[in-house]
Amino acid sequence: MKEIDTAKVEQAVLMLLEALGDDPNREGLKDTPRRVAKMYKEVFEGMCYTNDEIAAKFNKCFEDTTTGDLVVVKDIDIFSYCEHHMALMYDMKVSVGYIPNKKVIGLSKIARIADMCAKRLQLQERLGTDIYEVLKKVLETEDIIVVIEGCHSCMTARGIKKVNSKTRTACCKGRFMTNDALRTEFYNLIK
Ligand code: ZN
Repeated sequence: MKEIDTAKVEQAVLMLLEALGDDPNREGLKDTPRRVAKMYKEVFEGMCYTNDEIAAKFNKCFEDTTTGDLVVVKDIDIFSYCEHHMALMYDMKVSVGYIPNKKVIGLSKIARIADMCAKRLQLQERLGTDIYEVLKKVLETEDIIVVIEGCHSCMTARGIKKVNSKTRTACCKGRFMTNDALRTEFYNLIK
């Protein structure tokens, strides 16, 4: 586990305020570097952990004595930050499907894993792969699909300003890649 250097973040934010031509000592800004550093510590918490460490942290599984039927958790709300602009990615929803290999994971743990992987400077595509990798480790199966939908403020609030554009990505592995019927069943369930 690593730690975020909050003192350095504070220094950097102070410099940023100066670079923007503002006065870091004025009333509204004097605590801003400290506040931003505190916020970054929270919203980038996932940068302190590797995928393996996240898997170890949320490895709460139960034996699955039933059939290995498709399990789906849909519309997990998360926020993340794009690594190209450090801009907020919002209205993000993660849906996960998997086929249990003799064990199932506590449902809240899937949300916690998605949340922790999102608390990094991310690309939406890599976020899906990170969630997949952590789940693969915990569930000991590759039969997993992770679909993410989200808005990127670097697209909606600047540049081409496509306010309503959403990006959808899918990380589709194991039987979800090879079995069309299974994949269709999953997409029907998350509609
Ligand atoms: Zn961006």
